[in-house]
Amino acid sequence: MNLAPYAVTAANSRGRQIAETPPSGRTEFQRDRDRIIHSGAFRRLEYKTQVFVNHEGDLFRTRLTHSMEVAQIARSITRRLHLNEDLAEAISLAHDLGHTPFGHAGQDALNACMQAHGGFEHNLQSLRVVDVLEQHYAEFDGLNLCFETREGILKHCSQAAAAQLGEVGERFLQSRRPSLEAQIANLADAIAYNNHDVDDGLRSGLITLEQLADVPLVQQHILQVRQLYPDLPTRRVVHETVRRMINTLVADLIQQSQANIAAQSLTCLDDVRAAPPLIAFSADIFAQHQALKQFLRINMYHHYQVERMSHKAHRIISDLFTVFMENRNLLPPQFQPQVDHARAVADYIAGMTDRYAIREHRRIFEVT
Ligand code: MG
Repeated sequence: MNLAPYAVTAANSRGRQIAETPPSGRTEFQRDRDRIIHSGAFRRLEYKTQVFVNHEGDLFRTRLTHSMEVAQIARSITRRLHLNEDLAEAISLAHDLGHTPFGHAGQDALNACMQAHGGFEHNLQSLRVVDVLEQHYAEFDGLNLCFETREGILKHCSQAAAAQLGEVGERFLQSRRPSLEAQIANLADAIAYNNHDVDDGLRSGLITLEQLADVPLVQQHILQVRQLYPDLPTRRVVHETVRRMINTLVADLIQQSQANIAAQSLTCLDDVRAAPPLIAFSADIFAQHQALKQFLRINMYHHYQVERMSHKAHRIISDLFTVFMENRNLLPPQFQPQVDHARAVADYIAGMTDRYAIREHRRIFEVT
């Protein structure tokens, strides 16, 4: 397929930190995607969650299925915009590799523990996983991914952290943009989680279809589905609603982004970096998307049952952090001989799955 002149390609890529022979039979970015899929951190995504804890139910999204949904959405959008689908897929599959166990609660807890030691931020950790922590290759630490994949994984970053990161941090200091493929992966993430959280929220009973009547993005589709299929069972109403929501958001994002790109007369990748963010929703859909996000924050992420689980997650993470800080001999040997002990503890905890963290807590704190 012909890519747009401002798409990322192997020819305009800044390449890998350690030079390698070009792959045969696949593109550089397919190679990145394949390395990500074969990483240990990727396999652990199956047992990490965003809102629910892994053992709460087999039907809920895990970070693995979330990442696959993000990749699906990002690929659809990049293909329509004649951009590099392989790159968007690689970024999407890697974007959550640095997440702690127990979703948002785990991240907050580990960040609080790490306050005196430089903090903990999951985007930076995702980059650290692919740059340093995966240790399987003979010739380098990490996965030695292309610059554009690494840049896409690091979607947010403080100025202070950016200054320590070399070329991948530069854009935050110069307020330049990442590739369009990275911008797409970022918004595909938001589309995926808003919609699957509605689906999981309804399935779990934390939220109801009636509550969602006040959320325009959802309501218009519920009404449409009920009108078309008056006797449809609720489960199917939910799926028909969610797929329409995703379609609406994706179609709007493509249309608005096409208009934004056309208005800039881009000729090369460097023009993308100098332009304002071009991958965007229309103002109306953005407002609806934000309203849904707000609804989920209030009604789902702060639902008392979720808060109880978050409370436990905080407890588990901070207990583990404290005990490993006090006694490094309790750490598995590969995490012991580090100069920066706090960072080694954070790496160990962040790499845990939900169930591993629960078991580790039990092994250390329970007598029997
Ligand atoms: Mg995500």
